[in-house]
Amino acid sequence: MLRLELGIPNRRSKPSLDTIHKQDPALLQRANLRDYDSVYGRFSWLEARAELDGLPGGGLNIAFEAVDRHLAHGRSEKVALRWLGKDGGQQDFTYGALAAQSNRFASVLKGFGLERGAVVFGLMGRRPELYLTALGAWKNGNVFSPLFSAFGPEPLKARMTIGRAQALVTTDRLYSRKVAAWRSELPDLRLVLLLRTTDKALPPDTVDLTAALAEASEVFEIAETEPEDRALLHFTSGTTGKPKGAIHVHEAVVAHHITGRYALDLHPGDVYWCTADPGWVTGTSYGIVAPLTNGVTMIVDEAEFDAERWYGIIQDRKVTVWYTAPTAIRMLMRAGRGVADRYDLSSLRFLASVGEPLNPEAVVWSQETFGKPFHDNWWQTETGGIMIANFAAEDVKPGSMGRPLPGITAGIVERRPDGGVEEIAKPMAMGELALRPGWPSMMRGYLDEEARYQKCFADGWYLSGDLAMRDSDGYFWFVGRADDVIKSAGHLIGPFEVESALMEHPAVAEVGVIGIPDETAGEVVKAYVGLKPQFEASDALRRELLGHARKRLGPAVAPRDIAFRANLPKTRSGKIMRRLLKARELGLPEGDLSTLESDER
Ligand code: ATP
Ligand code: MG
Repeated sequence: MLRLELGIPNRRSKPSLDTIHKQDPALLQRANLRDYDSVYGRFSWLEARAELDGLPGGGLNIAFEAVDRHLAHGRSEKVALRWLGKDGGQQDFTYGALAAQSNRFASVLKGFGLERGAVVFGLMGRRPELYLTALGAWKNGNVFSPLFSAFGPEPLKARMTIGRAQALVTTDRLYSRKVAAWRSELPDLRLVLLLRTTDKALPPDTVDLTAALAEASEVFEIAETEPEDRALLHFTSGTTGKPKGAIHVHEAVVAHHITGRYALDLHPGDVYWCTADPGWVTGTSYGIVAPLTNGVTMIVDEAEFDAERWYGIIQDRKVTVWYTAPTAIRMLMRAGRGVADRYDLSSLRFLASVGEPLNPEAVVWSQETFGKPFHDNWWQTETGGIMIANFAAEDVKPGSMGRPLPGITAGIVERRPDGGVEEIAKPMAMGELALRPGWPSMMRGYLDEEARYQKCFADGWYLSGDLAMRDSDGYFWFVGRADDVIKSAGHLIGPFEVESALMEHPAVAEVGVIGIPDETAGEVVKAYVGLKPQFEASDALRRELLGHARKRLGPAVAPRDIAFRANLPKTRSGKIMRRLLKARELGLPEGDLSTLESDER
């Protein structure tokens, strides 16, 4: 890989993008991680594990740590899950009720003969039954694999085939529309549990979920799972190609718990809202496991994004910790500050974001709008949990992902021609972001893709495929995915850099940047821009944006061309698919589009 020292031109010298300092000493006092250096220096995963109870027989089970453990600590009456239906309904589950209901679920799975290690797929919107499926499957020693309910028949079939599905929990409607036609092609699939949402009779060879739960026992002895037993099969977002099935084990719960506490600053008194769908790893690690092990009340909203609804939830439910994604934040910015100002958002204590680079502009906007910055953090489906974060009690450097969690060693490495890697110690040198393996939530493999899995490791490092830099304070700065980096006239250009500069312009709502071939420069930068509602695409605006970018980035790095789009192509987890912008630009095959969500050209 080319090595180049890439400055971050102007970004941090611009006054509004300066380091954001914390101002409220009372909040600092409450933070779980107050003295980063000393906690980091002394941290041990063994001690972290000791904070969890473990199964009475000595094993470890995610569902037990998330739910049943709390009953012995006086939390059985506390609300664990507050579900908000899209039509205005609400359902509360206390820790006691979650324990009992997930026992029923486990009893059903066991009753149908599902054995340890069998894979149970969950396919439904964010409904309580999806959460019970996950917990019930873990209690019965099964592997839970969530699917986005918006997936079409093909992506569903592909994932369930790779996962050798033995059970599927879904709704009657989703089943008839998306699964029934090919179900017979999955030889291992022996149990289909349907939540009825229509009056139609149940299709053949399916079981009524509600009736089965009503008949099942509320008493269940949790399977004596071991730390290394498989618990989760999670497919990656498919941003760069065909999704991979990452395998996680029960021991991962130790990392979910600790990272929830340190990176999301969860306290038992919190009302916590993670907006991610469990179809994406964030919605499982931090939408189910971490909040529950930390004993919070978690909000689950069934509905899709709507700025008014979201602010209303924060206000009415008094959300204290909020975990969302850059794409959602950009949509809130697009809706405008005026919408936010109509709500009382003062309950919010801590805001965090993951999934894509968080543009500095978004951090500054959040500071201005909520009086608090979004805290960016970085991780992957493969890492199972947060690896790098901006912490509650530390300064936030807008545009930076933060520092490694206690227990995590991160480095910037350079690949050698012989296949090995070398760490680059020099501050602000660009290279591949790498991690020293050994944390509990690290994937144990890609299902059926051993060679691809092995390729992730070299010389004792796990290689993330992302390019980054580390500054002299130990903060990491995202540059781009290795595949997305643009090579132009001897420069390596990270798309994030260019996108963040364009985001500063008041007309820009979202932007994706790619490299396109050029005879003299090798590649030149092209940007695709979505505008805020009050702006219209025009040549004059294009020229203005090009001028703005040139001034901020210099002519070598600034885009040569800008195209306006109503919407950029994104994955269901909200990531801009630059590879698709590129394939379309160059007239190349579009590749695996199973996770593509918005697609207005
Ligand atoms: P695939 O591996 O299938 O191409 P994906 O990498 O998007 O898809 P995920 O595991 O959901 O699948 O996403 C992890 C990736 O998301 C990271 O490797 C990184 O590129 C990006 N990402 C996550 N958090 C951040 C962040 N805070 N800043 C920048 N990028 C981030
Ligand atoms: Mg990836």
